[in-house]
Amino acid sequence: AEPGAAMAVPQAGQPGLTLLGRVGVVDPYSLDDYRAHGGYAALRRAFDIGAAGVIREVTDAGLVGRGGAAFPTGRKWQATASQPAHPHYLVCNADESEPGTFKDRVVMEGDPYSLIESMTIAGYAVGAHHGYLYLRGEYPRALRLLQNAIDRARARGLLGDDILGQGYAFDIEIRRGAGAYICGEETALFNSIEGYRGEPRSKPPFPVEQGLFGKPTAENNVETLINVLPILTGGAQAYAAIGTAQSTGPKLFCVSGNVSRPGIYELPFGATLGELLDLAGTPGEVRAILLGGAAGGFVRPDERDIPLTFEGTRAAGTTLGSGVVLVMDDTVQLPRMLLRIAEFFRDESCGQCVPCRVGTVRQEEALHRIQDRTGAEAAGDIALLREVGRAMKDASICGLGQTAWSAVESAIDRLDVFESRGAK
Ligand code: NAD
Ligand code: SF4
Repeated sequence: AEPGAAMAVPQAGQPGLTLLGRVGVVDPYSLDDYRAHGGYAALRRAFDIGAAGVIREVTDAGLVGRGGAAFPTGRKWQATASQPAHPHYLVCNADESEPGTFKDRVVMEGDPYSLIESMTIAGYAVGAHHGYLYLRGEYPRALRLLQNAIDRARARGLLGDDILGQGYAFDIEIRRGAGAYICGEETALFNSIEGYRGEPRSKPPFPVEQGLFGKPTAENNVETLINVLPILTGGAQAYAAIGTAQSTGPKLFCVSGNVSRPGIYELPFGATLGELLDLAGTPGEVRAILLGGAAGGFVRPDERDIPLTFEGTRAAGTTLGSGVVLVMDDTVQLPRMLLRIAEFFRDESCGQCVPCRVGTVRQEEALHRIQDRTGAEAAGDIALLREVGRAMKDASICGLGQTAWSAVESAIDRLDVFESRGAK
């Protein structure tokens, strides 16, 4: 399959797919086709139960953020909705840039109206009248499809001053990123929209209090938002029955690397890593699996029983992040891969704070040297990597610096990647 294709797997005991059901089925340009496949039923229900009712359903469903951090969505919306300052904003983070992550692209290209409907519901819930869709600059097809969807929805009264005659006004503006990974960090993203350099702000204050233009803002990932549709159409209880008690609902996994069938897989939370690998097919001798992307961590092939849930990966000392499952077989030179990851973070660091600006450079230098070293020299580089990694983790302002050492650390501790050098 072409990388990025939706390789969807039905939920156990369910006839269809919850999140990807329309991908590859509907005409992504056609609003009529979207409506013929259940589109805008969720928005109608939202108006029936009111903004507070929507937040209650999302909270009862147990929905947590799918960008990677798993923050409870209902809590975020409630906190935004209850702020006295106005206006409130809704921001959809579609700056999907974590290496190995391409789930949001598949949704936006295959079912763009679902995101427009979801943003309208989220805007209604948090009391926003203006939504920004911050789209990764390298997604031109998604841009065309989303702009078309917005224009057609507006022309049919599904965006604008009086949506569905319910007296609610909401519109969406697309802003494009310009290739910086850091602009996916929510406060750097706000700065980018406001016309400033894409540098993260210190938190707190959290965006729910002071976000875009200093106003209360709910910022959500694409996948998080589209989960609102099945929650409203099927009810919180049915949704919460999917997955596990702490990780409810379906999850999109981005499977790539040395697998037979790369693509996006929709599975209920709780499937194991091994089950997912069996679906994707691993023809070679698997050497390592990177979970959660460059900001995530490596696990060994014998760790197939790790449950793919937020709590399960945490308990196993790793992370689910944005759902990256990048498989590497014995043709991959792992030390070179670590160097590539380190180059990536050095390149993408915004340079605002010292631990990350300097640490990512030192990390790359040490990994460069270690490629050809053994014994005490290699051991010295590993000690330096640990020291620099600790400083980045403890003292960086944002998630980029805090996780820039995670993959390298896991490769050293979990895979013993430099063991053959006599370095340990
Ligand atoms: P975070 O834990 O700081 O915050 C998560 C969300 O919860 C944010 O929206 C934050 O504002 C909100 N929040 C946290 N505490 C709050 C509080 N007390 N009150 C109100 N709101 C609160 O994480 P983060 O730095 O936003 O994101 C890190 C994650 O991003 C990582 O897990 C990483 O995997 C992921 N990531 C994803 C991509 C991608 O392309 N999808 C790219 C880079 C990083
Ligand atoms: Fe910028 Fe890195 Fe500091 Fe984040 S941790 S603010 S990316 S320098």
